[in-house]
Amino acid sequence: ILGFTLHAARETQTLKGASQMFDSYRTDLQGYITKTANKHKKMTAEEVKRALTFKNGVFPEGTPKETIVEEQMKFHREVLSKKIDEPKNMKLVHKQDGDTDYELANATLLSLVRNSELEGIVSSIRQLEETWNWRYNYPFTFINDEEFTPEFKKGVEEVCSGKVYYEVIPKSIWEKPANIDPALYKSGIAKLAANKVNYASLESYHNMCRFNSGWFYRLEGLKKFKYYWRVEPNVNFFCKVDYDVFKFMRDNELTYGFTVSLYDEPLTVETLWKTTVDFCLAHPEYVHPNGAFKWLTENQQNPHSTNGAGGYSTCHFWSNFEIADMDFYRGEAYSKWFDALEAAGGFYYERWGDAPVHSVGVGLFEDKSKVWWFRDIGYHHSPYENSPHSDKCSTDHEPGYFAPPDVYDQNCLPNWIRYSMTQKQLNMY
Ligand code: GDP
Ligand code: MN
Repeated sequence: ILGFTLHAARETQTLKGASQMFDSYRTDLQGYITKTANKHKKMTAEEVKRALTFKNGVFPEGTPKETIVEEQMKFHREVLSKKIDEPKNMKLVHKQDGDTDYELANATLLSLVRNSELEGIVSSIRQLEETWNWRYNYPFTFINDEEFTPEFKKGVEEVCSGKVYYEVIPKSIWEKPANIDPALYKSGIAKLAANKVNYASLESYHNMCRFNSGWFYRLEGLKKFKYYWRVEPNVNFFCKVDYDVFKFMRDNELTYGFTVSLYDEPLTVETLWKTTVDFCLAHPEYVHPNGAFKWLTENQQNPHSTNGAGGYSTCHFWSNFEIADMDFYRGEAYSKWFDALEAAGGFYYERWGDAPVHSVGVGLFEDKSKVWWFRDIGYHHSPYENSPHSDKCSTDHEPGYFAPPDVYDQNCLPNWIRYSMTQKQLNMY
């Protein structure tokens, strides 16, 4: 304090200036104390129950769905119409041209992909390289449940600017585990198929969802990495990004980054929430006091989804794009909870997706201020997109474009902004 007093006096040379410096110092200190206190505060089961009961939604009771969707899209466009560039007041690292000693963060680009999708993945990689990775040359890890063909390897190596790694998933990890009851599996998928749920009867899709939810980060070849950026075939990246995105995650202590947030088909996750709430009531100590509870339990825009999923809004980060810290999944809370999900069997009896699973895990067990909406990364996976207003973007769509009007009601980003972001965070672009 003495040091700071001298510093303030020297810096400002006036009593008023020094006192202003003290004020801002006090605000920072208060924020820090609240944050560290929260870090160690444990919730009780009663508090968890209360946190998971949705209240004080922004729309008055009885507002028609069309009005809600219209208001939400208006809000979406308003937020995205702001002209942006790079994040402000955040730690950013830019690699300088000609810097040959640049040290990379501990991270990999990552793609689970089939040999047959070579053309689609090459198209995605080209765009990611052109908009960002050409400068950094982060490595790329390709994973598959079969051996990659020489043709696939040659194709991707032609477009990756960094090191390339391949990893074949052991059958013991990829395939349906032994605890899955064949009769329950059969009746479960019959129900989904009768309701025309996509991919219901495709076992490999269930394998993929389970693998992406709780297994990929345990692969031998991924153990050495902390951060990953997931890339899918046939997606588009259309804005230039100059800073080191992985160091951005690291230096700002972020856990999870996303671009698009959506609702889900409730039948695919009918009992995910019940299984999760049971787990959280038995282990309230894992739930983060600053979790994204309202976003997870919102019931105004698509009550049919929230009710169908037993109180879970079905809102999720669309995980075909994600930039995240695997140590979060490797941690105790997520691991124990994932074990409970495995025991319940919903990856097969229903069709729990890795997007809702990652999102519920992050939303409950992590501080919501460690989740970052990458507003500056232009991203498209049909039919949805994140379309920033920035000179760094090249696209035919207007800023704030989301999707064709018939799926506007699927947009959950407005809820993320309303219920999980602070004004301060919104002003960081
Ligand atoms: P959608 O986006 O939900 O329609 O699903 P996708 O078909 O795009 O699959 C999601 C990701 O998993 C993509 O990167 C696919 O390449 C990958 N994927 C899906 N099924 C399999 C599979 O059976 N084997 C492999 N190796 N990759 C798969
Ligand atoms: Mn896809």
